[in-house]
Amino acid sequence: KVEKLKKLKDLPAITLDGKKVMLAANIGTPKDVKSALANGAEGVGLFRTEFLYMDRTTLPTEEEQFEAYKEVAERMEGKPVTIRTLDIGGDKGLPYLDMPKEMNPFLGYRAIRLCLDRTDIFKTQLRAILRASAYGNIHIMYPMISSITDVRRANAVLNEVKAELDKEGIKYDKNIKVGIMVEIPSAAVTADILAKEVDFFSIGTNDLTQYTLAVDRMNEHVKDYYQPFNPAVLRLIKFVIDAAHKEGKFAAMCGEMAGDPLATVILLGLGLDEFSMSATSIPKVKNIIRNIEYEKAKEIAEKVLNMKEAEKIQQMMEDMIKNID
Ligand code: PEP
Ligand code: MG
Repeated sequence: KVEKLKKLKDLPAITLDGKKVMLAANIGTPKDVKSALANGAEGVGLFRTEFLYMDRTTLPTEEEQFEAYKEVAERMEGKPVTIRTLDIGGDKGLPYLDMPKEMNPFLGYRAIRLCLDRTDIFKTQLRAILRASAYGNIHIMYPMISSITDVRRANAVLNEVKAELDKEGIKYDKNIKVGIMVEIPSAAVTADILAKEVDFFSIGTNDLTQYTLAVDRMNEHVKDYYQPFNPAVLRLIKFVIDAAHKEGKFAAMCGEMAGDPLATVILLGLGLDEFSMSATSIPKVKNIIRNIEYEKAKEIAEKVLNMKEAEKIQQMMEDMIKNID
């Protein structure tokens, strides 16, 4: 079976009736590119940049970041690389940043909120990303966007940085795509508004599930409440994908759900364009996509959207993928 999955590496993720989707990898450092390519990733759908900031005593310099982003862009050889701007805060603090003590860190000063406050940190990262964009196919993605105001403020900073680079005569991709993580319910519910402001969405189901169901994604005591297949989450996912498509934008997913074989047929049927996951999940997900009709997947997604319980949905999907080998 492992051998069989390996043979899939260079085959496209295409359904029996010809619908093609993109399978990409989530990476945390440039070292992960090797496994991404070995497993047949057609791009990097999420480059978590936190590693650059962690396990050290000072902020990373523009040059250090530039080198890391450029390395990934070059090694991916023109395939899209979506770099997520700093998503620190919540559980991930930085000893040298003097973060506030918060009662609810996951509802607090984190990610884009921190970056819009500390524009010095944000600008350094955006400069490094823009400079690296001259060496490959880079997209920028903002985490933890809660409203159009966040997007506009972040883009204003991005435009300032672009103007600086222009003045200095430094090259970058002038058509660089800019998208957002949809991982806060308010963003999902207003996806029709946000779709007009961005080039793409990437649904972060880890946080979207946590915030939609008010359940800590890491708390063992409430783990049964953490349900990516909950109808509330599935409805939001559908709304986000449809909103993107209405504006001619693409909809990706980079939360764990994108790499869960039980979710593949549903997400395919909902019209998801890009599935980004840990590299080792790619062959399994690709195998499922290559063994089903898109028309069938749409029927199943529709059926699932009419179901009421996460447990039943999951059970149905388990039974279904048993038949795909
Ligand atoms: C998510 O929230 O689904 C996500 C991909 O981001 P992270 O897991 O890094 O919070
Ligand atoms: Mg997240």
